[in-house]
Amino acid sequence: MTESFSKNFIDYEEYPQSADIQNRCVSMIGRLFNAPVNEEGAAAVGTSTVGSSEAIMLAVLAMKKRWQNQRKDAGKPFDKPNIVMSSAVQVCWEKAARYFEVEEKYVFCTPERYIIDPVETVELVDENTIGICVILGTTYTGEYEDAKAVNDLLIKKNIDTVIHIDAASGGFVAPFVVPDLEWDFRLEKVVSINTSGHKYGLVYPGVGWIVWRAPEYLPKELVFNINYLGADQASFTLNFSKGASQVIGQYYQLIRLGKHGYRAIMTNLTRTADYLSDSLEQLGFIIMSKKAGEGLPLVAFRFDPKSEKHYDEFALAHQLRGRSWVVPAYTMAPHTKDLKMLRVVVREDFSKSRCDQLLCDIKLCVQVLDEMDKESIKKNQEYIHAHSTHSGKSRHNHPHYRKEGHSLQGKTGKTHAVC
Ligand SMILES: *Cc1c(COP(=O)(O)O)cnc(C)c1O
Repeated sequence: MTESFSKNFIDYEEYPQSADIQNRCVSMIGRLFNAPVNEEGAAAVGTSTVGSSEAIMLAVLAMKKRWQNQRKDAGKPFDKPNIVMSSAVQVCWEKAARYFEVEEKYVFCTPERYIIDPVETVELVDENTIGICVILGTTYTGEYEDAKAVNDLLIKKNIDTVIHIDAASGGFVAPFVVPDLEWDFRLEKVVSINTSGHKYGLVYPGVGWIVWRAPEYLPKELVFNINYLGADQASFTLNFSKGASQVIGQYYQLIRLGKHGYRAIMTNLTRTADYLSDSLEQLGFIIMSKKAGEGLPLVAFRFDPKSEKHYDEFALAHQLRGRSWVVPAYTMAPHTKDLKMLRVVVREDFSKSRCDQLLCDIKLCVQVLDEMDKESIKKNQEYIHAHSTHSGKSRHNHPHYRKEGHSLQGKTGKTHAVC
């Protein structure tokens, strides 16, 4: 990686090995996602990106272009594309839809259901739908949306649309922890999948990946060929230049760890997350995330309303911030009656002993808050926000753009929404 700091990934003529290594990563990731194979070998095509956000922008562009081409060929209007997705999507989906002028059609969560309902999802599809987004591991609770149910409904009802899987986090977890779960190219309606190398792919930021099941789902007019040493290297990215190090890092991890290594790490993380879930449950919290590998190794939890606390999850997040833990508090996606929650993402460096330390500090912070009255909690929260958090210290937002209210997250509020 250090040797590659100076290399510009896009310069295929000068650095053909970087391009070659990227292609090998695409092959390995395609196989991991069960991409179909034809006579010539793997049919899948793909590219490295800066992260899942860029990958998702490219996926949306490919779906939109392909839909437009089909509509043009059929002599039908193609000026009102829409995309069907959960209201719990990561903010990059809203960006992709706005930037590329695709109408957002949302399947809303409910106070009991934090993922899309497959029936409702398929009902939203119409002739202007470019595709459906299914999330493998939502940002809020880490739960896997039911790609198979959506796929099977589309086939049963003979609906002609495609599925993109946002496997930003789940792409490097599910294949190792729950290999029998059908969410990937084993489902015939799934045409593209993105994943983040810098999340459970275990590489430094930023690297992401996007893979299409076959070239027909990535329209030619979006791909630019850059000729090097007589061989064409296809390029489909938003940015031209980028460093080559991250691709090298991904290749290293894939080769060094192998399936065996990733499985060992992801299974261990799942065990740690289960341990944290069980311990928090014993402390009286309600667990909103899945256990036993049925979701990402993360724990989403909230207070039991029966405990009638005089403070909320944001107060606990601030108290923990005072002890140097950055445990974000969120307000759940819209239409969930403003459910509040805390979320701990179990990363590779979160050992069981660190987990025990966190549990100790949660217990301590709850005790402290229990003994404080409302007025002092508020004052304390403001103090921590101003002195212990970075968002309290820096005013990095230009005043003109503060209190953004046009996006789902701007409207429902996310992370440290205090003051
Ligand atoms: C993190 C995340 C993204 C964005 O990925 P980046 O790699 O940070 O660009 C998109 N979707 C989901 C579900 C995510 O968790």
